[in-house]
Amino acid sequence: MKHIAVIGAGITGISTAFVLASRGYQVTIFDKNRYAAMETSYANGGQLSASNAEVWTRWQTIFKGLKWMLKSDAPLLVNPKPSWHKYGWMMEFMREIPNYEANTIKTAELAIRSREFMTEMAEQAGIEFNRVNQGILHFYDDEAEFKHADYVTSLLAKGGLERRRLTASEVYEIEPHIKSEVIGGYYTPSDFTGDIHKFSTGLAKACADRGVTFHWNHTVKSLDPKNGSPVITAKDGAGEIVTESFDGVVICAGVRSRDFAAQAGDRVNIYPVKGYSITVNLQDEMSRNAAPLVSLLDDRAKIVTARLGEDRFRVAGTAEFNGYNYNIRADRIAPLTKWVEHNFPDINTEYVVPWAGLRPMMPNMMPRIGTGKAKGIFYNTGHGHLGWTLSCVSAHMVSDTIMGADNQ
Ligand SMILES: Cc1cc2nc3c(=O)[nH]c(=O)nc-3n(C[C@H](O)[C@H](O)[C@H](O)COP(=O)(O)OP(=O)(O)OC[C@H]3O[C@@H](n4cnc5c(N)ncnc54)[C@H](O)[C@@H]3O)c2cc1C
Repeated sequence: MKHIAVIGAGITGISTAFVLASRGYQVTIFDKNRYAAMETSYANGGQLSASNAEVWTRWQTIFKGLKWMLKSDAPLLVNPKPSWHKYGWMMEFMREIPNYEANTIKTAELAIRSREFMTEMAEQAGIEFNRVNQGILHFYDDEAEFKHADYVTSLLAKGGLERRRLTASEVYEIEPHIKSEVIGGYYTPSDFTGDIHKFSTGLAKACADRGVTFHWNHTVKSLDPKNGSPVITAKDGAGEIVTESFDGVVICAGVRSRDFAAQAGDRVNIYPVKGYSITVNLQDEMSRNAAPLVSLLDDRAKIVTARLGEDRFRVAGTAEFNGYNYNIRADRIAPLTKWVEHNFPDINTEYVVPWAGLRPMMPNMMPRIGTGKAKGIFYNTGHGHLGWTLSCVSAHMVSDTIMGADNQ
């Protein structure tokens, strides 16, 4: 039996391990943390959203970034401190602008395919993850954003996604809890939401049940492709160095995948695009009744929401270009709390849990799935703002590639 190592136990690593183990591979996962999904797959926006497949590679994103450069509560914030990685990445991002349409369509296609795999995997693994099948409602209070949404809808349709244009009163009909003024919206009934951390940890348990070996507290220090029998060297929790060789390695290390790619002779230019979330604990009846069940996306504020069971409401957003920085900044959390208070004034925001995570983002906003230059090196990484949405299809795609390589 072929032995495959996976670096990283976030959603991409765990879902890859699950598919490989289900296909009969021996799988070993390395993660520097003690548990699964402790980094970007911990407290994201919770959306499985084909309707959010639009990539960001537009001139408008650049103009907004420049306009907001010095505004600490803006949805997009760039730390102007010079860094080759950041500015090099941004140059590449601009070069990808001509591919905006094609990449949006492709992402929508992948997101739609991913849904079926996710449902199937959750059933096989018996995972309960606060799934809510109430669709995703994009709502607008700005004419220009609403008009742009019409164009995005035409691209999503080319990718196979149907969504419905709504008047303001139809928005309130679908989600009567919204108390702010809106001018219209788009509704995608086929999208859904859930808790990524519950899904990932449930899938990790199912992996263990299928014989996957977990090396927790193992920080991978180096990856040597070694002529098709890649060798991983890691430091365990006790400080011991562990070296093991495999028939193949899949790199699923989130924002750190770039480092391993460099060691394997590949360029995978992932930049850590930071985002924040708050989880509002709905401790009283009034808050529980005031919080929306339907998942929302406010395109102007770039905020997404998900209801996680009876008593949790997740609100996430913002993009920050600030390197490998995990600090939770009060001035970046405040706009999320204010957004809740503005749109849902009856929700008590006394009990709010803040979080920050780093999106592993490629300049073209497309995940890197497939082989590396060296034999035995594979990638399933760089899923950016849609890692959960795309994880189950990409796990199948990389597993197909590994099986294909076996048959050569
Ligand atoms: C605020 C926010 C909101 C978001 N909302 C959504 C959403 O609504 N829907 C959606 O689809 N996506 C969303 N995303 C994106 C999604 O969360 C990510 O794309 C996804 O979680 C990335 O998963 P990953 O497995 O690639 O990375 P991670 O979850 O970060 O996993 C990488 C793993 O690699 C391990 N690792 C790294 N280096 C080493 C090493 N040297 N040795 C051992 N282990 C190592 C880490 O410990 C980690 O466990 C959001 C992201 C953010 C930040």
